[in-house]
Amino acid sequence: MDIIERIKSLKIIDSHMHLGVGPNVLYYNYSDDRVYELQKKYNVKISICSHCIAIFGEIASQADEIKKAQERFGSYFYWNLVYDPKKAAKSLDIIEKNRTKINFAGIKIHPVVHETKIDSRAYEPLWEYAQCNDIVISSHTWSPYTDNPKQFNGNPLLFESVLDKYPGLKIILGHSGGKVSFYPEVINFVSRHQNVYMDFSGDTIYPPVFKMVIEKAGKGRIVFGTDMPMMDIRYHIASVLAADIEDSDREDIFYNTAAKLYRFE
Ligand SMILES: [Zn+2]
Repeated sequence: MDIIERIKSLKIIDSHMHLGVGPNVLYYNYSDDRVYELQKKYNVKISICSHCIAIFGEIASQADEIKKAQERFGSYFYWNLVYDPKKAAKSLDIIEKNRTKINFAGIKIHPVVHETKIDSRAYEPLWEYAQCNDIVISSHTWSPYTDNPKQFNGNPLLFESVLDKYPGLKIILGHSGGKVSFYPEVINFVSRHQNVYMDFSGDTIYPPVFKMVIEKAGKGRIVFGTDMPMMDIRYHIASVLAADIEDSDREDIFYNTAAKLYRFE
């Protein structure tokens, strides 16, 4: 099969993308419509979105923005509602009131933007709520080996003590800790926790990592994510296609693992 035929045959769930404009990112000609168009063009059947307005701005506005997007794009997008640890009660109230009214997927946290460590007590109400209601949490995570101390808040290894206390939590490590040199530690962590998944969205395009995960942590632990519109989906598709893994593993990464996790089947 040539590469064009191969791309046409894909079936994808994008587990990590955004609509809306973030204040710290310069988008070239950004529009929600353009993101939608590109996602559809590259065979994303289901797209799991958290709205930038909730991550970088104000959590209270997210439900209205999501409802507007649903009017425009129908049920194409599923939604991760954002939990702000500095507004714990308000966040859970927004999630509880809206999750049955929208195309709800799960909950997104961003320990770096919210400047709150993953193992902080400010996340406790969320862990309780998510475990009790069987809701998938997707967290921005990043390597602590960085000059930006804010990224220490999102060290994925901090989930260790959280999972000791809440073993039923289902967690996606967004960006999987972000940096190639840190991946072995994160993969080792994932291999010890059955309900933890990895997405390789973001700016590290590194095809060998997929084989490393499958060999060390087993099959079915990776979900496909792009971080659109910050990143271009084509890099991420190419990265999975270039990996030295079986086609059935590629199908798991592109679609099956997320479908099972979010119960889309
Ligand atoms: Zn993101």
